[in-house]
Amino acid sequence: MVEGGIWRVVLDFLFPMPCMGCGLFVDSSDSGCVIWCTKCEIMRLNAGICTREIAGAQVFSATSFEVASVRSAIHTLKYKMIWRAGEVMGQWMHDCLPPQKEKIILVPIPLLEKRLALRGFNQSEILAQGILRAGGAENFEIKNILVRARGRGQQAHRSRQERLGAMQGAFIATEKIDPAVQYCIVDDVLTTGSTMTAAIEALHHVGVEKICGVVVAAV
Ligand SMILES: [Zn+2]
Repeated sequence: MVEGGIWRVVLDFLFPMPCMGCGLFVDSSDSGCVIWCTKCEIMRLNAGICTREIAGAQVFSATSFEVASVRSAIHTLKYKMIWRAGEVMGQWMHDCLPPQKEKIILVPIPLLEKRLALRGFNQSEILAQGILRAGGAENFEIKNILVRARGRGQQAHRSRQERLGAMQGAFIATEKIDPAVQYCIVDDVLTTGSTMTAAIEALHHVGVEKICGVVVAAV
């Protein structure tokens, strides 16, 4: 049964949405998900989970950015504000995390203020909500404890070396933390790792010992 009950089934019937990977309208019965088709799911799974060590922390990636339909899905999440894309990808991210006995605090990467004003939402936070929805409130909690240090600008047009330098000290952790608790930084895409490094270092700086990261896709 689709999450959201009968109303969601009715809405899906009245307003069908295309697969966010390939753009085709698919029957929800074949993959159990109306916006992500079985064909795209097979390609995503074939790309596999990847784990990278960044600043002493393990960062898990649900799939690869090399898969075209995954790139389309991430684009959907960023620019078309489809919350359900966040639910689907949140499930992927949840599934790529190793099983954990204790509760995990999810820490979304904050968006630049200007971008947040333009877009109206932070995609990392939507992904964190998707993970929480997939794993349950007894296992996950979201805390927005990172803020951006001022005057860092956007990353997109910088070279790898420039990015690494520019992101140093880019985040500040704003809350007193519990060193015994597991924190997990949430972002959409892992490229050079400079954003993730800055976020991990900001948490280290305030005494967090157990840190990991999770992203939808790694480049
Ligand atoms: Zn598809």
